[in-house]
Amino acid sequence: MIPRIIVVLGVSLVSFAAAGQHSAVSWRDVKIQDGFWKPRQDALLKTTLPQQFDQLIQKKYRQNFDRVIKGQKGGYEGYVFNDSDVYKVLEAASYGLGIQRDPKIEKLVDEWIEVIAKAQMPDGYLNCYFQLMEPNRRWTNLRDQHEMYCAGHLIEAAVAHFQATNKKTFLNVAIKLADHMESRFGPGKKMGYPGHPELELAMMKLWSATGEKRYLNFTKFIVDNRGSKFFANEHGTPLDKYDGMYWSDHKPIREMDSIEGHAVRAAYLFSGVADVAHESRDKELISALDKVWKSTVNKRMFITGGLGPSGSNEGFTVDYDLPTYTAYQESCASIANALWNYRMGLLHGETKYFDVMETAIFNGALAGINSDGDKYYYVNPLASHGNHHRQDWFGCACCPPNLARMIGQMGGLAFSKSKDAVYINLPVSADLKTDVNGKGIDLKIRTNYPFDGKIKVTGQGSNPAKIFVRTPGWVDGGGSYRLLSSGLKAGESAELNFAMPVRKVISNPQVKDTFGMYAITRGPLVYCLEKTDNSFDFGRSGFPLDAQFEVETNKSIFGGIPVITGLAKEYSPLNWKSNLFSAVNLPASKKFVAIPYFLWDNRPSRSIQNEMMVWLNPNPAPAPIQGVETKAQVKVSFRNSNSQPNGVNDGYVPATSNPNSPQQLHFWPHSGGEEWVEYSFDKPVRVSSSRVYWFDDTGRGGVKIPKSWRMQVWTDGDWKDLAVKSYSLDLDKWNVVTFSPTQSTRFRLVLQQQDKWSSGIHEWQLFEDQD
Ligand SMILES: [Zn+2]
Repeated sequence: MIPRIIVVLGVSLVSFAAAGQHSAVSWRDVKIQDGFWKPRQDALLKTTLPQQFDQLIQKKYRQNFDRVIKGQKGGYEGYVFNDSDVYKVLEAASYGLGIQRDPKIEKLVDEWIEVIAKAQMPDGYLNCYFQLMEPNRRWTNLRDQHEMYCAGHLIEAAVAHFQATNKKTFLNVAIKLADHMESRFGPGKKMGYPGHPELELAMMKLWSATGEKRYLNFTKFIVDNRGSKFFANEHGTPLDKYDGMYWSDHKPIREMDSIEGHAVRAAYLFSGVADVAHESRDKELISALDKVWKSTVNKRMFITGGLGPSGSNEGFTVDYDLPTYTAYQESCASIANALWNYRMGLLHGETKYFDVMETAIFNGALAGINSDGDKYYYVNPLASHGNHHRQDWFGCACCPPNLARMIGQMGGLAFSKSKDAVYINLPVSADLKTDVNGKGIDLKIRTNYPFDGKIKVTGQGSNPAKIFVRTPGWVDGGGSYRLLSSGLKAGESAELNFAMPVRKVISNPQVKDTFGMYAITRGPLVYCLEKTDNSFDFGRSGFPLDAQFEVETNKSIFGGIPVITGLAKEYSPLNWKSNLFSAVNLPASKKFVAIPYFLWDNRPSRSIQNEMMVWLNPNPAPAPIQGVETKAQVKVSFRNSNSQPNGVNDGYVPATSNPNSPQQLHFWPHSGGEEWVEYSFDKPVRVSSSRVYWFDDTGRGGVKIPKSWRMQVWTDGDWKDLAVKSYSLDLDKWNVVTFSPTQSTRFRLVLQQQDKWSSGIHEWQLFEDQD
């Protein structure tokens, strides 16, 4: 048993961690210096935090609190979980204050804490939505209404604020709210646990910060009871009709062996479970965590460390479903995966977990925020036709403040310790001042990681502790800790250098979307090609596997970071109009430049279709057959925000009607009745055939094949039905119609939708006269 020191409210508590476990090194002990993360933390303070505080006013988060304080009723703005965004901004700001006590930021934080404290009810309850809208329905819908989730983020923010400033103003609010929950839920009290996990890991932090064991017991209660299908009971759902997967409530955690449902919820949950297991050494919990982890990294994780292929549940579908264009990979899910793997690393003291953490941080997560720190992704595809750009904020804005708090606490994720050693899990340039077994440690770490693998550690005191460095899994013979030094005296240095060759990585053949393709990686970074650097046609180009790739630096590309270059083979376009076979011309060699994936869409390129791809084809598939629709403007009768009309003429046709395609048109939630899509042309086109490929997400959503369809042409100022010579209405194939050659600038496809169902289209094509 190893003593673990927790400094709490000025008192030292000694807790115990079992052999093999690591304990955390607080972010307060780490001061990031130059290198990769310093500019990111500078941007956090200078740009991100002021911008995010501004959004909290503009988007009326503050108005909700002000209304509560004034005792007003109704008028709540935003999603039911909006309070959590406020708390996450405050958590990020607290890390910011710990890095640099910026008086402007501190004033904003203090003002907000005053507002939050005033909004708290005398019994400790705090949730603007319920206080304004449903004051009599507190704690009645834990499954959907996010009260415990918001509470968790408040607690995390308050602990960070206390650690950063030693002020207890926010911590007192958190304690009051935690006590409110703890007095209501638990053995002999009410049953309940959060529909959106997060409170688990937050309560463990509060326990650590206060030493109050009831918070640990509360966390054990909500972990032990999860999977008891309480949400079925809460909502009157018959048990035989209840599928709790979305909330990770389908079975007790101890029986789980895969990650399911909503990606962020699941990874937050397992983070909290890992914290509990770290403390309790509960063998069943650890065994379940290990099984879930193994199945996640072997079957359900993107190459970038991201989680969750599907937008419809923001989460998991089946094993090996790892698409490229439609990868959902929410920024928060990559962050949650990093946080979970950080805790798995502490739990087991093994490097493979920190391998996953670094992959998720440097790729899936960091792509979520631009280098300037003021634009964000919610969804992170691994290939784009060029119309996916970061935004200032979102209606559902979980990701922007999550990215901010990740950058703020980075120092704390980088190190761990045991009774006689310090572990460098993620090389960062930093000054580390901590203690090991009560003895002071003072080290200076310098590195250019992740761009090169050299790490130099210099002692600044007596340092009576071993220093281990994680040898990453991507290093030949890697995957364990390497002893760097048995103790560095002041002025002594030790260094090592992990070679970072360019690697070509293929996926398990069971991953359909990347079958036969490969991705370029170097060190922990996944690379991608972006149109800005590459003028050739992505669809017509191949990237031979045996090609020699070089690492180059070019000042004009992100100030000279290592980029990867090689030769692509660009084939000329083929004409399939009346051919079944076609000879292929020798391709032209074109130099390509690949940049780190996390840096894509950072250069102003809205004037061009800034295509991007991570996965490369050694040989390009022939370009899809397309008709005159490629020149058309698309109009639709109705457009929901997640319907993409430009998908109907992008040339992409999936193998069946059911999967999502990179962009697809649907009319959900309009159901029954008629809907239409229109092609309009600058000049008249003459066409004599058309074909359509339906989108149908039966089993996942509300889109079904229509009842019937017809085509219309704009003639003499009116829409006229086209008389077609053939007609079909089938899934999973092209439905072709032919008609007498017809000339016009506008054509419509009109759908009669099935009662109570919407309809959708993957692709609609129009062909000129055929011989
Ligand atoms: Zn998010």
